[in-house]
Amino acid sequence: MLNLPSGPNVTSLVHAAEDVALRVAAPLAETVDREGHWPLETLQALGANGLLGLHVPKRLGGLGEGLLALAQVTEVLGRTCGSTAMCFGMHCVATAVIAAKATPSQEEHYLRPIAEGRHITSLALSEPGTGAHFYLPRATFRREADGYRIQGNKSFVTSGDHADSYVMSAVAPGAELDPGTFTCLLVDRHAPGLEWGPVWNGIGMRGNSSRAAALNGVEVPEGNLLGREGDQIWFVFEVVAPFFLVAMAGTYLGIAQAAFDLAVEHLRHHRQEHTSERLAENAALGEKVAEMWVQVERCRRLLQHAARAGDQGAPDAARALFAAKIDVADTVVVVTNTAMTLLGGRGYQENGKLARLIRDAQAAHVMSPTTHLLKGWLGRSVLGLPLL
Ligand SMILES: Cc1cc2nc3c(=O)[nH]c(=O)nc-3n(C[C@H](O)[C@H](O)[C@H](O)COP(=O)(O)OP(=O)(O)OC[C@H]3O[C@@H](n4cnc5c(N)ncnc54)[C@H](O)[C@@H]3O)c2cc1C
Repeated sequence: MLNLPSGPNVTSLVHAAEDVALRVAAPLAETVDREGHWPLETLQALGANGLLGLHVPKRLGGLGEGLLALAQVTEVLGRTCGSTAMCFGMHCVATAVIAAKATPSQEEHYLRPIAEGRHITSLALSEPGTGAHFYLPRATFRREADGYRIQGNKSFVTSGDHADSYVMSAVAPGAELDPGTFTCLLVDRHAPGLEWGPVWNGIGMRGNSSRAAALNGVEVPEGNLLGREGDQIWFVFEVVAPFFLVAMAGTYLGIAQAAFDLAVEHLRHHRQEHTSERLAENAALGEKVAEMWVQVERCRRLLQHAARAGDQGAPDAARALFAAKIDVADTVVVVTNTAMTLLGGRGYQENGKLARLIRDAQAAHVMSPTTHLLKGWLGRSVLGLPLL
């Protein structure tokens, strides 16, 4: 159980997530990693507990929660299975984008089924041409008599070919150079024209099925435009970025915590013959544990502070959110590596849980907004410059 105080709702949600993590995600985690298995079972169990509806308004049957709950639930899941936390996190970001300006029809067709645990969604923003600049789609949409057609490519779509729908970014033809024209459309899994690339085979996050997609005139019904055409750059900074940053920071914080737990477990139980002492009694190793504890706990405090600030609409929320993801990405790489050192040759020899955590951790810096981009934004914000 996480230690920081939170409202009774969030506490009970975290308990429910811990239960699913323990019963369903933990026994599957190795298979997810080894076989690149997309974690349907855990996502269904989260749905059965209402957690897929974390960001669906209560009036539509959802939990109506915000960033603080997302931070804590993704941490719980990341501690057990990074791939599951990633799929859940992307579902939550996409849900928040849908909920931001949903029409009555979108509420009935997407948000209610999500709240009932019957619909999983995801986010299709990144493209091969603009890479980390996820707010600069080159995919274009055009109007037809019966809706929209999208043409272009997406480079990484978590839960690709598994989710029921995808929140997809595109621009009107000719508007590619103007970031203010970013538009989101809801694409159904079996939409004609949506063609998936090769099966995901990443070095880590092996169950997240982050696949490329070719968009060959993808057919989107007119009612699946989110908000209005071309006026939605606010989606990026008001919805996508805060939810994305918190979901990713929570996921990698959980991975860091899991590596820390493995190191502590090893030091507490491994005893050397020549001294008869447990490694835990060695002062130098104890110092390392202290350093790791400070790093992980500092991240948790910063993330939860940032999430609360975001939920309250505090003026400094954006900077805190940028800082939280920067800090978690640095920490998860350092802490997983330090854990490997503390587990010694045994840690290296056994290609098991710690190896998975180290591989999963490597994605933290390259998930958009990447650490490079975030440091640029944070610096510009502090210096009084516009972010873009
Ligand atoms: C496991 C995984 C799951 C993902 N899931 C999704 C998803 O569900 N939906 C989605 O939309 N995307 C997803 N992504 C994509 C992700 O969010 C990033 O967009 C993507 O990883 C960026 O990689 P790239 O090779 O395109 O980066 P590039 O743009 O080629 O960048 C390479 C490096 O250069 C740096 N860089 C680039 N431009 C600048 C600059 N101007 N200043 C400083 N540094 C710069 C970047 O920070 C990065 O370190 C996923 C990625 C991974 C690895």
